Amino acid sequence: MDYYSNQISKLIEELSRLPGIGTKTAQRLAFHIINMPEEQVKNLSSSIIDAKHNVRYCKECLTLTDKELCPICSSPKRNKQQIMVVENPRDLAAYEKTGKYEGVYHVLHGAISPMLGIGPADIKLKELMMRLQGDVDEVIIATNSSLEGEATAMYISKLIKPAGIKVSRIASGIPVGGDLEYIDEVTLLRALEGRVEL
Ligand code: ZN
Repeated sequence: MDYYSNQISKLIEELSRLPGIGTKTAQRLAFHIINMPEEQVKNLSSSIIDAKHNVRYCKECLTLTDKELCPICSSPKRNKQQIMVVENPRDLAAYEKTGKYEGVYHVLHGAISPMLGIGPADIKLKELMMRLQGDVDEVIIATNSSLEGEATAMYISKLIKPAGIKVSRIASGIPVGGDLEYIDEVTLLRALEGRVEL
């Protein structure tokens, strides 16, 4: 079973635990690492350890950062009264790339999924409600258009509305002039729930 030395096998095993890394890729990476200059290997391992030690949740929005507050929350240019709720830091990054959004964020680190047994207490909703006790004008719900994202959006909107804070949902996917009967129910549901009060 152990074709290689114990230490190489251990390295392959650890690498193959990473997402998207199968045994073959893990072997390739392991041999590559062994052939790398020692200095480069040290840089790689110390950057992994440093990131693990120092990266944490931003105290305000809960995105990943190595400071107490992330650059967005600590910027005086951002509008703290407008909070966009996203599922994960990758979604935050996607909206940031547009360069158009001037408010701040709240990262839920997941979405409600009864199928997977993920309830409201398993995502960062309590933290969002705490933030809303401050001076907040609008909550923009930008969870995904998946069933989980829609369930989460509905849950949040029901939770927040009684507090008298404006709640909005990112634009729905209903095409202009599209026949409603041919549109999937997830999209319809979002359009209904996200309707604007006139
Ligand atoms: Zn932040």
